[in-house]
Amino acid sequence: MIEAEGLYYCYEKNGDYVLNDLNFKIDRGEFVFIIGASGAGKSTLFKLIIREIVPVKGTLKVFGHDLARMPRYRVPYLRRNIGMVFQDFRLLEDRTAFDNIAFAMQVTGASSREIRRRVPYVLELVGLPDKANAKVCDLSGGEQQRIGLARAIINRPAMIIADEPTGNLDPENSYEIMNILRSFNIRGTTVLVATHNHEMVKLLKKRVILLDKGRLAADEAKGVSAGAL
Ligand code: ADP
Repeated sequence: MIEAEGLYYCYEKNGDYVLNDLNFKIDRGEFVFIIGASGAGKSTLFKLIIREIVPVKGTLKVFGHDLARMPRYRVPYLRRNIGMVFQDFRLLEDRTAFDNIAFAMQVTGASSREIRRRVPYVLELVGLPDKANAKVCDLSGGEQQRIGLARAIINRPAMIIADEPTGNLDPENSYEIMNILRSFNIRGTTVLVATHNHEMVKLLKKRVILLDKGRLAADEAKGVSAGAL
């Protein structure tokens, strides 16, 4: 699903590599934590995966496509298959939960009938069946992030990438959000989570990719021991 081979990236010409010789493979259906200190390169890796930026060296394949060779017109199709979740939620605050999720479906050309059917279903998946008509600004942070998760899954993406999804949440809500991501994963969606939340990483015992100043410092199949964090 994702294959990095000798992957390098730097933001400035002749600047330091912020991703340095990354080699890894993520298969369909995996749940993977990407961890590492601030500045380690986690967000840069996500930007490469959605082809906001392109590798300066090496290859990155997503869904079997070499992203450096992908023509521009294919990029929206790539992104349609990737649900994004952000630390700051990125919702339209003065609109309802329903509208926020529905917009993501409308841009794919879904009919209003399909939208009316699917939005309540995903609200149910994230545990907010009664909040369709609530304005986002009236919801708690935990609820807003659940709307973010509902929006990410609405178009049945093959993969979800979540960049610090619990960064603004308390432990209880963080746990709920991780649990919902885990439920998406159990239903077959590949999930990548960049996080500083080491408690959650230890608890969930999923594969962990540790970045250290742009290098792959560890890749552990069943979580990491306390000493490694
Ligand atoms: P993380 O998500 O792990 O905190 P980032 O991928 O955001 O790390 O950053 C990796 C490195 O790239 C850092 O040294 C950061 O300062 C640098 N960086 C990130 N974005 C830019 C940018 N737009 N221009 C220049 N340097 C950047």
